[in-house]
Amino acid sequence: MSYRILMITSEAVPFAKSGGLADMVSALSIELYQSGSDVRILMPLYGFISKEELKLIDPNFEVSYKNYKENCALYEGKLPLSKIPVYFLDSAKFYERNGIYGPTASSAYPDNGLRYSLLSRAALQLGKRIDWNPQIFHSHDWPTGLNPVYLKLSDKETSSSKCASVFTIHNLGYQGRFSMRNTPWAGITPEIVHQYHFEDQNRMNYLKAGIENSDMITTVSPTYASEIQTKDFGHGLDPILSRRSKYLKGIVNGVDYNDWNPEIDKHIVPHNYSLADPDGKKALKKQLQKEMGLEISTSKPLFAMISRLVEQKGIEELCGPGNGVLEGFCKNNDVQLVILGTGEKWCETELKRLGEELDNLSVTISYNDYLSHLIEAGADFFMMPSRYEPCGLNQLYSLKYGTLPIVRRTGGLADTVQAPDKEDCNGTGFLFDEISPEAFLAALEKACSYWYEKPAIIEQMKILAMEQDFSWGPSAEEYLKVYKEALTIASGK
Ligand code: ADP
Repeated sequence: MSYRILMITSEAVPFAKSGGLADMVSALSIELYQSGSDVRILMPLYGFISKEELKLIDPNFEVSYKNYKENCALYEGKLPLSKIPVYFLDSAKFYERNGIYGPTASSAYPDNGLRYSLLSRAALQLGKRIDWNPQIFHSHDWPTGLNPVYLKLSDKETSSSKCASVFTIHNLGYQGRFSMRNTPWAGITPEIVHQYHFEDQNRMNYLKAGIENSDMITTVSPTYASEIQTKDFGHGLDPILSRRSKYLKGIVNGVDYNDWNPEIDKHIVPHNYSLADPDGKKALKKQLQKEMGLEISTSKPLFAMISRLVEQKGIEELCGPGNGVLEGFCKNNDVQLVILGTGEKWCETELKRLGEELDNLSVTISYNDYLSHLIEAGADFFMMPSRYEPCGLNQLYSLKYGTLPIVRRTGGLADTVQAPDKEDCNGTGFLFDEISPEAFLAALEKACSYWYEKPAIIEQMKILAMEQDFSWGPSAEEYLKVYKEALTIASGK
C-alpha cells in the first residue's frame, strides 16, 4: 500500500515544535515515505523559520474561499535527511511572529482562528499550484480541524471525491474555540458551522469540526481512544466520539530512534551506551549530577522529569503547595531529583523555590534539548504522573535509555509501560492508578525500595525496558490501513 498523502500541520520538527505533535508528524512522514508513499507536509512559515534554505515557489499564492481572499506566498523546503517536500505558507500578516500559537507558551494570539483556517483552506489549493493531488489529507489537532470541512465543501463544488480526510487527535484538551462574531474565517459562515456540526455554545470548535467531518479519526494510543469516549476524559466531546467510534482508531506513536537512541545519540558522546555495552550510562549519571550541581553518587537513585508544566502532567500532585509529593519525597528519602520544564507560573515559582531549598533537587526552568537527552541518559527513573496522556513520548525514550518510567496508568502510558508481575518479572516500569499525591508517592517509594532492596530486579527491568521496540514501522502500517479505510469510506459517499 502506498498513497499520496498531504500532512497539514501547525508543527513539525525541526522547523517548529511545542510538543509531541511536531515529532509525530515528521517521524510518521519519514516512515511512510520510506515504505513507498509520496508524503508531503504543509505548515505555516513562522517568523522564526529561516528562509535561507527554502525555495520561493509562488510569491502570489492566493488562498480563497467564496468572498474571502488572502494573498500569501509559498515556499518549499525538505525535511532534513529526506526528500520529503515541506511547503511553507507565508503570510507576513498571520505567521511572521516569534511564537507558534501565542507570544508565550501559555498565551494565544487573538487571531488564531483566522490564522489556522487559512492553513486548512490553503491545503486544498496547494495541489493545483504544484500539480500534485493528494489522496489523503491528514490533518492534526484543532489548528487543522477545518480541513475536512473545506474538503466536504469543495466536494460539493466539484462533485469529485477521489480523496479522503484523516484527522488525528493528539490532545483532546486543546480544542480551538473561537467566537462566531467575527466570521467569516476564510469563508466559513455561521450557517456552515451549523451545517457541519461544529458549533459549541455559540462558538466554533475546530477540534469538533475535525472529529465530525473527517472520514477516519485517529488518536495516539488505543487506551486513549477508549478513554476519550467517556465523560472523565472526553472534554465534552465524548458523545460525538462514541457516536463516531466506528471511525476512530488508536495507534501508538513511534519513536524516532535516529534521535533518541543511546547508542548513537550525539548529545551524549563520548559516553554512548547500549544493552551490549551499558557502562556509558554510569558516566552520564555522573555528568548529569555534575552539571546539575548534585552530589556525585552512584548509590543514590536519580529521579527525573521533563515536562510542560501544565495541569495535564500532574503538576498539582508533584508540587501543589501544601499537598505535592516533591518536598516530602526529597526530604524523607535518600534520593536525587532533576526536573526540567516550563509552563504555569505558579508551578515554575514553586519548583524554583524547592530547588533552592533542597540540596538533592535540581530544577531547570527552560526548554533545553541537550539537557533533555542528558537527563534521559543519566537518570535512573523517569516520572510521568499525568492526569491524562494521549500517548506520551518521554516514557518511550526512557525505556530505550534504561531509565525506568514511573507513570500513571492512563492513555499511552498504560499501553507502553508494564509493571512487574507477582513474581517481580516482566516489568519495565512502575504504575499507579489514582490521581492523587498519595498514589504517586506510593509509586515513587516502591521504585525507591526496589532500588535499595531489589537491585537485581531493577537491572532485569532495565534490560527489558531497553529491549522494547517502539519504532515507527508497525505504527505506520496501521496508518496505511486507516488511509485505505478512509478512501473506501470516501469513495462510497
Ligand atoms: P506533550 O506533547 O504533551 O508535551 P510528550 O511526552 O508527547 O508530551 O512530548 C513532549 C516532548 O517535548 C518530548 O520530546 C519532550 O522531551 C519535550 N520536552 C518537553 N518539555 C521540554 C523541555 N523543557 N526541554 C526539552 N524538551 C522538552
